[in-house]
Amino acid sequence: MMAAAVRGLSERLRDVSGLLARRFGRPEICAHETEPVRNLVLTILSQNTTDANRDRAYNLLTKRFPTIPALAAARPSELEEAIRVGGLAQAKAKAILGALARIRGERGGYSLDFLREMPLSEAREYLTSFPGVGVKTANILLLFSFGMPAFPVDTHVLRVTKRLGLVRATSDPAKAALSLEPHVGAGDHGPLHLNLIRLGREVCRPRNPLCAECPLLTVCPEGARNTKRRVS
Ligand code: SF4
Repeated sequence: MMAAAVRGLSERLRDVSGLLARRFGRPEICAHETEPVRNLVLTILSQNTTDANRDRAYNLLTKRFPTIPALAAARPSELEEAIRVGGLAQAKAKAILGALARIRGERGGYSLDFLREMPLSEAREYLTSFPGVGVKTANILLLFSFGMPAFPVDTHVLRVTKRLGLVRATSDPAKAALSLEPHVGAGDHGPLHLNLIRLGREVCRPRNPLCAECPLLTVCPEGARNTKRRVS
């Protein structure tokens, strides 16, 4: 499927966002809720696991290492043990300890506040230079910790935006994020991201999407095809 012409992409995203907000409401984004460096740890823990297991791993980690300096001083084996429930414990422990050591070495402490002063693309480049931090996780951190206009694309957002024809069928999540991001309306990155995830979980499921009940049916080429197929 061809991606939407760039000229119309902003308008189409605005329509999608409006229709989703009408169905699901407009989720509040609480930026700055958690220390950014903690969010970096959380995003590393979120690789290849469910939200529930990521949260379990994070809670066990914070119980065992209540402060960032305590975490940074942990032995890799202790950290692996604490986060085992989240999977890939060895790689994640290495990535977390490596990231904390590097931030401390470069900045003299564990704060990521300097990212606030950077343009979005530079801040993203800095974060993705850490092993275990891809475009999606960097964007989550930039959006939710710093309130920057970054657009995280996960498996749900990717599937839905492909079906809507907003990104190319061959796009991976990183390409889709970078192509959509500049066209999302100001202040809409968080609400649109969260509502697309909700739609992907509840309606536009991987198999048997519920097109007839979907708030985006009027703007979705895949939905039009699916409903015609089911009616005839
Ligand atoms: Fe997904 Fe169908 Fe909705 Fe399109 S109309 S977004 S394919 S559920």
